[in-house]
Amino acid sequence: MNHLRAVPGADPRAPLPPRPGSATTVRVEAPGKINLFLSVGAPGPDGYHPLTTVFQAVRLIETVTARSQSRLERGRITLRLEEADARVPADGANLAVRAARLLAEATGVDEGVDLIVRKRVPVAGGMAGGSADAAATLTACNALWGTGLGPEDLQALAARLGADVPFPLLGATAVGHGRGDRLTPLMTRGRYLWVLALASRGLPTPAVFRRFDELTPQPPAALAEACEEMTAALRCGDARALAAGLHNDLQEAALSLRPELADVIATAERAGALRAIVSGSGPTVAALVPDSGSAACVARALETSGPVRGTVRVDAPVAGARMVG
Ligand code: ATP
Repeated sequence: MNHLRAVPGADPRAPLPPRPGSATTVRVEAPGKINLFLSVGAPGPDGYHPLTTVFQAVRLIETVTARSQSRLERGRITLRLEEADARVPADGANLAVRAARLLAEATGVDEGVDLIVRKRVPVAGGMAGGSADAAATLTACNALWGTGLGPEDLQALAARLGADVPFPLLGATAVGHGRGDRLTPLMTRGRYLWVLALASRGLPTPAVFRRFDELTPQPPAALAEACEEMTAALRCGDARALAAGLHNDLQEAALSLRPELADVIATAERAGALRAIVSGSGPTVAALVPDSGSAACVARALETSGPVRGTVRVDAPVAGARMVG
């Protein structure tokens, strides 16, 4: 493939790369996401479903630390999870390692890196934690290696790693088309408060799409667009209007695989949420609340109800992948 090594400083919007050899450690944070809107079309010949979705980045932050290696061990890409988790591969299958490898191949860098990943996004919760790790790694290695790729090149590499990887690079709130990887940022005002209900077992995304196909053998030819009411609500910072526009075509499939999620939604709404929906392919349920008092009530109600493993209160939107050290 063509090497993408950029002329440092060629793209004025690119983060300034450190002088070669000057940084030995770069730390980058990238957010998890929820889906405010998800419309799913019929799968194409490649088996992928076309989507129209609205992503919002929430304050559940993954941190990737990228370290230069000593001269003796140079050239390998290694990974350590700050807290070991049997569900997360710590080898070449990890999305962070794949991201570093892809950037190295694309730019012709062979110096290697030691990656340390601190996970805060629930694993297999439909919140794209692995994708956030990949986005953070691309940003960190781009700075550590001084490769100086600009936002468009990083977005293109991100899309090759997975449909959900471009969004955590961008952050905030955005509409996604295609597989969800062609992004347009949305103007928003204000902050939104969410209570996330975490399930004890993950729900594999492919299984949810398979059930969607069974339940919806002939999806409408045209994808629904994120309704004007929703984008207007986001522009005005109107949480009640946003609640009315929340929509997820995969919710029925997720509920049919995990019927208990219907109780989670009902519990959150009874306890004061403006609205609660399955986020993306689930099983995380996102409950939009009007204020921090309601957030506490909703969290308490969910935590004392059966099917919830725990809750997290987050505000949104937050920034995409950014260097913090
Ligand atoms: P997806 O929608 O892609 O299934 P998700 O958002 O539901 O993902 P993730 O936590 O991102 O959930 O990861 C799902 C699976 O991806 C994990 O169970 C794990 O096997 C694999 N994986 C690979 N790299 C990572 C990573 N860095 N963090 C978490 N999971 C990873």
